Amino acid sequence: MAKVKNWQLQREMAYKYAAAPPKRQIAYVFDTNKCIACQTCTVACKTTWTSGEGEEHMFWNNVETKPFGFYPLAWDVKILEKLKRQSWSAEGAYVGETIFEAAPEGEEVLGYMPAKEDWSHPNLGEDEVNAPIGNITSMSTEGGTGAHDRWMFYLARICNHCSSPACLVACPRQAIYKRPEDGIVLIDQERCRGYQKCVQACPYKKPMFNPKSGKSEKCIACYPLIEKGIAPRCVQTCIGKIRMTGFINAPDKADPDNPMDYLVHVAKVAVPLLPQLGTLPNVYYIPPIHVDKTYLSQMFGPGAGDAVETYKRREEKTVGLLTLFGSTDHWVDKFKVEKGLATAYQDGKELVTVPVKEPIVFRVFRDEKLDVNRHSVT
Ligand code: SF4
Ligand code: SF4
Repeated sequence: MAKVKNWQLQREMAYKYAAAPPKRQIAYVFDTNKCIACQTCTVACKTTWTSGEGEEHMFWNNVETKPFGFYPLAWDVKILEKLKRQSWSAEGAYVGETIFEAAPEGEEVLGYMPAKEDWSHPNLGEDEVNAPIGNITSMSTEGGTGAHDRWMFYLARICNHCSSPACLVACPRQAIYKRPEDGIVLIDQERCRGYQKCVQACPYKKPMFNPKSGKSEKCIACYPLIEKGIAPRCVQTCIGKIRMTGFINAPDKADPDNPMDYLVHVAKVAVPLLPQLGTLPNVYYIPPIHVDKTYLSQMFGPGAGDAVETYKRREEKTVGLLTLFGSTDHWVDKFKVEKGLATAYQDGKELVTVPVKEPIVFRVFRDEKLDVNRHSVT
């Protein structure tokens, strides 16, 4: 086993291969506070990529209600239980084992194979809150922290195009590879023999088996679009404007004008999903502001609480960048916020400029000239 640096754990970890970082690494930021679970992203992905035979159960993109929504069933509960003790030092370093370090004898990764029926109920737990409502007639907040005593939130999930992918090391055919040009993780359909070791190994359960073709499949980050400068389908179509795609640098090379670097490394308002697993996932989440902090730190690591506080401060640069989410169908590599305007760029070219605050216009009720009454909607 080699040793690789895992900045999300603030330590080195054991991994099958030595670090071989791509030229650039695709990344996403999802703002959970804005997701409305409309599933437009899910349908956009499904109709684009998985409408064929044997793909009926596949949702490369899915949106589940936490804490009781899962696809496949209990994917996170099962791997967290298997991993046993997970804790973080006061400085934010992980002191438990990753799924690579906890691998059983003869395996590369600690994993499990979901049962066939675990893929059958993608909307299980939808809109269920964390505890029974009982006779409660109004929501209260806990000790003024902003967390609600009853809560749920929507978690949109795709393949994380991890920097240390579990699927890749588990494949006995070496059919899974990470593209050097953009860090996208793909399964070579010619090499795959359907052993499903990737399905067993991926802790996020994002590779899925096609019984018709006998091969495993997964999210391809819409690479034909990425190569043309365009954002993936799930990002382009997001109704809630919760998503942005770009490329992320290592923390010591963070560029404050790069949207991914800014949100993840500079403002630290976006955090990885289950970083303790050790795969260095590249989808980052702005955690929900109304959810129990203990749950959030288990789900998004020790930085989750601070991320929520930063989000609530609504600093102009952060708010401006969030305004650009969903404002362009391209991926964004630079942004600027000044004089009340936010601008997104790609390869030095302006993609779009939007006002950070939408102007509000009040109209007089009575327009004598046109003989009409007008209502202002605010
Ligand atoms: S999320 Fe799973 S399938 Fe995607 S790269 Fe990571 S380990 Fe592989
Ligand atoms: S399209 Fe956007 S808002 Fe709708 S479910 Fe997907 S991530 Fe959430």
